[in-house]
Order: sequence, then C-alpha cells, then structure tokens
Amino acid sequence: MNQVLARCSAAGSYETGGILVGKYSKNQRVAEVTAISDSPEDSVEGPTVFIRGIRGIYRWLQTLWRSSSHYYLGEWHFHPGLHTKPSTLDMGTMTDIARAEAYKCPEPILLIVGGNETHGWFFYTQVTTRDGAIVELHRCEPKKS
Ligand SMILES: [Zn+2]
Repeated sequence: MNQVLARCSAAGSYETGGILVGKYSKNQRVAEVTAISDSPEDSVEGPTVFIRGIRGIYRWLQTLWRSSSHYYLGEWHFHPGLHTKPSTLDMGTMTDIARAEAYKCPEPILLIVGGNETHGWFFYTQVTTRDGAIVELHRCEPKKS
C-alpha cells in the first residue's frame, strides 16, 4: 500500500494505476499481493480517465512467475481527490479481464484509491466474477474530524 500511495501522491491530479501481482492461500480464500506495477508507459492518464497500457507488463509477469511463482491478481488505480466508486469503464474492464483467456484470472481484484495526501486516502476493493457479478471486499474512507 505504501508503494501504491507513493505513486498516487506523485500522480497529483491525474489518474494512474497498474497491476497487482501475488498468490492465493492454499484454500484460495485469501489473495496476498506481493508486488504492484507502475503505470505502463503506453497508459492513458487524465484527470478522470485511466486506461492501463501493456508495455513491459508481460515480460515483468514472466520474470515474477519464474522467480517466485507469483502471478497476475488484478488491477489498481487512483481517482485523484475523488470517491472510490468504480466507473462504468472500470466495471467493464474488470468483467473483460475475468472473461479473457489470456489473463488466466477468472476473479480479478480491483483496488481503487481515492482522495489525496492532504485530506486523506480512500480505499475500495472488489472481486469481479466471470459472470459479471461484483463482490465488494472492502471500503474505507477517512474519519471526519
Ligand atoms: Zn476508475
């Protein structure tokens, strides 16, 4: 999370994001995220848009698979200064990934970070199933003082 927040801080008022990598527990009930990627350089980043690129991702995943047997778990991105509610595009992207054979990830995780360093961070995580169902895992907003 420190790595994610550092990238969100650096992105300022632009969305950014990347992928989540790790492994599942033996009973497959817990996903452990062990690494995150930066935003690939062919990503589209704007104040209210993030489309993750692919440059360098496949090679990085291959390296992680060979060295530690860790693999793709899902996506993370930043909604600068905003709530963490997934957009229609976010929802569609996760359903596409769940259904895409190339990802080999039928239940991808989505982590959205909102807010900012000054006013506090918001967090939201969900799992999308292959049939398009959304399972909200966690939602966290800063305490009002
Ligand atoms: Zn989004």
